[in-house]
Amino acid sequence: MTAAPPPLAARALKLLQTVWGYPAFRGVQGEIVEQVAAGGNALVLMPTGGGKSLCYQLPALLRPGVGVVVSPLIALMKDQVDTLRQLGVRAAYLNSTLDPQAAREVESALLAGDLDLLYVAPERLLLPRTLDLLERAPVALFAIDEAHCVSQWGHDFRPEYQGLAVLAERFPGLPRVALTATADDRTRADIVRVLGLQDAPLFLSSFDRPNITYRVGLKESPKTQLLDFLRAEHGAGASGAGTNGGDAGIVYCLSRKSVEETAGWLQAQGVDAVPYHAGLSPRERTSAQDRFLNEEGVIVVATVAFGMGIDKPNVRFVAHLDLPKSLEGYYQETGRAGRDGLPSTAWMVYGLADVVNVRRMLAGSDAPEEVKRIEAAKLDALLGYCESATCRRQKLLAYFGETLPEPCGNCDLCHRPPQVRDLTREAQMALSAVVRTGHRFGAGHITDVLLGRETDKVLAQGHHLLPTFGVGRAHDEKLWRSVLRQLVSLGYLAVGDYSGLGATGKARALLSGGEKLLLREDTLLPSGGKKAKGR
Ligand code: ADP
Repeated sequence: MTAAPPPLAARALKLLQTVWGYPAFRGVQGEIVEQVAAGGNALVLMPTGGGKSLCYQLPALLRPGVGVVVSPLIALMKDQVDTLRQLGVRAAYLNSTLDPQAAREVESALLAGDLDLLYVAPERLLLPRTLDLLERAPVALFAIDEAHCVSQWGHDFRPEYQGLAVLAERFPGLPRVALTATADDRTRADIVRVLGLQDAPLFLSSFDRPNITYRVGLKESPKTQLLDFLRAEHGAGASGAGTNGGDAGIVYCLSRKSVEETAGWLQAQGVDAVPYHAGLSPRERTSAQDRFLNEEGVIVVATVAFGMGIDKPNVRFVAHLDLPKSLEGYYQETGRAGRDGLPSTAWMVYGLADVVNVRRMLAGSDAPEEVKRIEAAKLDALLGYCESATCRRQKLLAYFGETLPEPCGNCDLCHRPPQVRDLTREAQMALSAVVRTGHRFGAGHITDVLLGRETDKVLAQGHHLLPTFGVGRAHDEKLWRSVLRQLVSLGYLAVGDYSGLGATGKARALLSGGEKLLLREDTLLPSGGKKAKGR
């Protein structure tokens, strides 16, 4: 008499342990594996690093036939396949980097049932030849990775992803599992519609990373602020120049130039920092990456080019010296900290100049209007997060469609709630200074006018004769800078040519006294830290 095969869950756990060497599933992984292995569809929303790959790799091993994985990331396919092969999984890929002979060999292995997993680029999958081949091959399931690429609303729209609607039509009996780390409602609806997942259960794992402390401070002297933070909290340069005394971390900068400058400056201060950006030679980049992964306490100063596919568990901090592009970008970049679950910090400084810069870059780009509109909305969400007066984690999670019922107690705003003040009057003064000077001067000049400073420029323009000249003397420069920054962030002021500020339609209600404005007093320390540092 033969024993009944062990239930699916037990077989799944056994494979997880024997093939991958992991003791247990993480979060919803186990449920997803069972659903798909049993032949059902699934929509998986899980943050980056959450463990999406197992959700299709394991069911592919549990079901007869090959799991076909659609992925747009051709550059990563070879690595993924190599990793699987090291685990003893029969994996291969089909994309434009393969020569015809190698592609033919993969196709024969597919038809012969000699593969467990096959990674395919979407444009390759959609070729009539590949689809015919798949109809003749034993297919276990289709996994559609980076599924948000079907949506125009997302930042990664790929027209070929819309063609994947063909999977539901031609292979209705095979399970489809769609996976993404982009969770907003519109993207989700597009995925369901295009991939025919109306009846598929949604597996949503929380985007919360409770071990990360979020902090956003005002940019004053960014490099010094960064160094103070690294020294005070991450032991950087602690045991002398050139030694690896501190924690590993990533510092993100916007430009290659500022990456080089910041890395050089940190090195001069005895911090073990290496630069990384797309302009460096492949050898330099590989060396930076290897040092970061294999040595203790290396800090990589990088553009956003760094991080994709990097999996280092003990990154203790991610610092932003410049604003990221969107909250998705911020979440993804900061999410590289603390994958081991231990306390880690997401640290950022930003100031008025950053807001002006990104707004101007956006307005000046030659992207189609629709794209610009989406990017402007994303930027607004990011600035709303930066200027928030209440729990940052609540703001961040709300953006990803999740509700955190209580303030987190582990962000700068929970640690030190900022003062909120009715600054309607001050905002009116600032807006009227902008209006009266003709909507074309930058924040520096507007501040001079408000403070009644008779600079050469003020005198040359005759702005000392304006009724608004000197109306803001009761406050200092810092307050006016802060008011102007918040007015730009909140969309009352727009940035025009040469960084000139202009009042927007939204400003009218405020100027006419029809609206009140509660603004944040900038009481936060530059580093957002808990202790005053006397600077
Ligand atoms: P994602 O695709 O969601 O970004 P990955 O599938 O690449 O995430 O997984 C992220 C990391 O977590 C990988 O190093 C992976 O090996 C690890 N991992 C995934 N699931 C588990 C698990 N159940 N136990 C331990 N480690 C896991």
